[in-house]
Amino acid sequence: MSRYITDRYKDFKAYEAGEQLDDREYIRLNTNESPFPPSPKVIQALKDFDAGGMRFYPDPFCTSLRRKIAGKYDVSPENVLVTNGSDDVLDYAFMAFNPIGTAKEDRPTVVFPDITYNFYEILCGLHGVSFSTIPVGGDMTIDPEDFMDTGANVVIPNPNAPTGIALQLSDIEKIIRSNRDHVVLIDEAYIDFGWESAVPLIKKYDNLLISQTYSKSRSFAGGRVGFAIADKGLIADLLKIQQSESPYNVNSISLALAEAALDDEEYYAANCRTIRENRRYTRNALMEMGFRVLPSSTNFVFARHPDIRGADIYEELKKRGILVRHFDRDRIRAYNRISIGTKEQMDRLIEALADIIKEYEPKTENE
Ligand SMILES: *Cc1c(COP(=O)(O)O)cnc(C)c1O
Repeated sequence: MSRYITDRYKDFKAYEAGEQLDDREYIRLNTNESPFPPSPKVIQALKDFDAGGMRFYPDPFCTSLRRKIAGKYDVSPENVLVTNGSDDVLDYAFMAFNPIGTAKEDRPTVVFPDITYNFYEILCGLHGVSFSTIPVGGDMTIDPEDFMDTGANVVIPNPNAPTGIALQLSDIEKIIRSNRDHVVLIDEAYIDFGWESAVPLIKKYDNLLISQTYSKSRSFAGGRVGFAIADKGLIADLLKIQQSESPYNVNSISLALAEAALDDEEYYAANCRTIRENRRYTRNALMEMGFRVLPSSTNFVFARHPDIRGADIYEELKKRGILVRHFDRDRIRAYNRISIGTKEQMDRLIEALADIIKEYEPKTENE
């Protein structure tokens, strides 16, 4: 840190992304990336891409991709905003809808579950927004009743991360309806792995904002494409922020490839089905070994062993060349979040876990 940083960011703790180690070859089950390459049509589009055109700025409104996404989701282009990863949707939303500088008041301007995507809390710190968290139950499920009439903006990932547990669409609708004077942001980063999207509800509720991403189900984490779907009023608000903060922030290559991806939805749907099969396979195998594994509607599972500490499992897997995600946080320290990869990768994981359990002599109690 330099002596020039403002007080506001002196104690600010930056978001910690999943490790990107390269001291050896790892099986990376720690960042929920897809184990599959993008569609052959995307790879072809990259080959066909006219690199000479890179001297031009990209379309700041992403018009063509926006239109195509609108077509796929049966909404109008005015209901869509394309961003550089869906984290940007979250960033713009936290700026657009939460008053800054109210951190000392007791009334929060935004609420989200206590066990959820860490980035929300980071954004509150970044933008000086006061928030409060609503505890999930002992079984890690969200009780929709707790999110009724909050008097604040609401953020809920559905399915939730890192638990993987999804809320029924009828419960999501109740939450939206009971918070009509506030924005309800449903983060659908994992929706394609087998859950029902709230997108059709944007026609009924102008306070509903949905974010989705190409990063997970469309094997495009490196391409950085996300999008928001909402009533055109909310989209116009977000667009205003995007155009002022970083008007050309989705690059032309990513725009072209993201369009090509939409021409091959069957390819991605098949991959999502494979992930679901591998998820079921992994969950069953882990449970047979004695793990408690939360029910997941995503491309990861959240699992704890009754005796072995979460941090120890994480370390032991790392020694064996497998990366998973461990969060050193209250309530979830005993767990690891394990991304679902190919069947071969999952077999390697299962073997490694069996080996760790065999070697383990109970020394420490799990919390
Ligand atoms: C991965 C993820 C995102 C955002 O990913 P991008 O790569 O920025 O699109 C958003 N929300 C949740 C819950 C995620 O897990």
